[in-house]
Amino acid sequence: FNVPAPVNEPVLSYAPGSRERSLLKEAISIAYSEQIDIPMYIGGKEIRSDKKVEIRPPHNHQQVIGWYNAGEKKHVQQAIDAALAAKEAWEALAWEQRAAIFLKAADLIAGPYRYKINAATMLGQSKNAYQAEIDSACELIDFLRFNVKYMAEIYGQQPPVSPRGSWNRLEQRPLEGFVFALTPFNFTAIAGNLPTSAALMGNVVVWKPSNAQIYAARVIMEVLIEAGLPDGVINLIYVSGPDAGDVIFNHPDFSGIHFTGSTGVFQDIWKTIGNNIHKYKSYPRIVGETGGKDYILVHGSADLQVANTAILRGAFEYQGQKCSAASRVYIAKSVWPELRQLMQRDLATFKVGPVEDFSNFVNAVIDEKSFNMLSKAIDDAKADDSVEIIAGGSYDKSKGYFIEPTVIVTKDPYYITMCDELFGPILTVHVYDDEEFDKILNVIDNTSIYALTGAVIARDRYVIEKATYALRNSAGNFYINDKCTGAVVGQQPFGGARGSGTNDKAGSMINLLFWVSPRTIKETL
Ligand code: GLU
Repeated sequence: FNVPAPVNEPVLSYAPGSRERSLLKEAISIAYSEQIDIPMYIGGKEIRSDKKVEIRPPHNHQQVIGWYNAGEKKHVQQAIDAALAAKEAWEALAWEQRAAIFLKAADLIAGPYRYKINAATMLGQSKNAYQAEIDSACELIDFLRFNVKYMAEIYGQQPPVSPRGSWNRLEQRPLEGFVFALTPFNFTAIAGNLPTSAALMGNVVVWKPSNAQIYAARVIMEVLIEAGLPDGVINLIYVSGPDAGDVIFNHPDFSGIHFTGSTGVFQDIWKTIGNNIHKYKSYPRIVGETGGKDYILVHGSADLQVANTAILRGAFEYQGQKCSAASRVYIAKSVWPELRQLMQRDLATFKVGPVEDFSNFVNAVIDEKSFNMLSKAIDDAKADDSVEIIAGGSYDKSKGYFIEPTVIVTKDPYYITMCDELFGPILTVHVYDDEEFDKILNVIDNTSIYALTGAVIARDRYVIEKATYALRNSAGNFYINDKCTGAVVGQQPFGGARGSGTNDKAGSMINLLFWVSPRTIKETL
């Protein structure tokens, strides 16, 4: 198959004085000045409602940067109708024609839309320039391009064996019905991948983004329209979860959900689908990535510079709001005094503040609810004599929802913040006796319901092998001598097991296979 071999999109540096930096700054000021009124997109039409909801940057919550038009149940129904109306023509299109649209979308993001989509991600989700670049530019571009390659591989699979006198074929067909994409606030790339991967395979989609990500989601939609996506193939709506669920999960043509979000929501959805199973024409595909309580294990043989960088970047980039973020760290006693010093030294240099100042490493958490939950966790730790806060501990929501990167040290490996997902810039450290390494492997494996990412930092090869084996079920993405975040499409297929999801590896052929329903054809010759 003649599909361009994808190369991961190079990450721009946004160094002071660079051209990209001034273009991004310009895109940020345009975004502030345009005060955009964001429509839903149903059947290719822009839909506005009389319920306008303000959008404010989490780091600058006095400022309104636009509005989205909130919908209701009737819009969900309209989106399903539009999707089903578009279905026949879309699935009849040759896969190469579909691929061309998504490859063009990737090129548009890599080119003319790069600064607009990064600015939208920075303002709407409070990501600094680097975090926006690796997400809404590079990762989204990579998803689009690599998925085309995986689709070509699926269509190009060896046909089944055909003994003389018969001809066996395996025909890849899209699902019968529509797919529901329910996407998170924390990655614009994931918000883009979940609807587009299903659509690429010939499906029609109803897409409901997190309200906190609508500001950038609509740029993805603008790109797809400019790339030539036919009307109704992807329909973008802003409705409440219950309104969407009531209509979608009761519809006979509901054929799959592509989800990233919280474990609780995913489990509720699964139950609802189970209760309604007799209503559907087909058993729906349920693909979801959910929570995490991701860990880094530092052995006594570790390179401490490597450990320090892995811990601080893993825990605090994007304010710890990656599902993959390190939030529990186990450190051998023999290296703790030195590592503690390194961590404190570097944390003291981390600037916290709005994204418009490019020197801020840490920006705001997503909203007031998250801020309140995180500041309470910090207060609880302060009031607890059994733990020590060795860095951070302050917070301020006067201008934006800022939480200082905070490190709690506990003697209890099962301390509450070692177990519960917080989804913010709070890291808990447990220091273990070097001789108790085997025991700590067991603790790590049994502390949380999640299994998304984890890392071991060690130089001793026997230790690396032992940890890799002992922790085989406790992370879908496991890192050796690296941080536990930042999976790259095409390099580290991403997804977790246990309470972290169905482990269907976003940006891989495994994931795309969920969006086809093959037919075997035998012809007797
Ligand atoms: N793929 C991202 C990473 O490796 C995390 C995705 C998420 O937070 O859901 O850091």
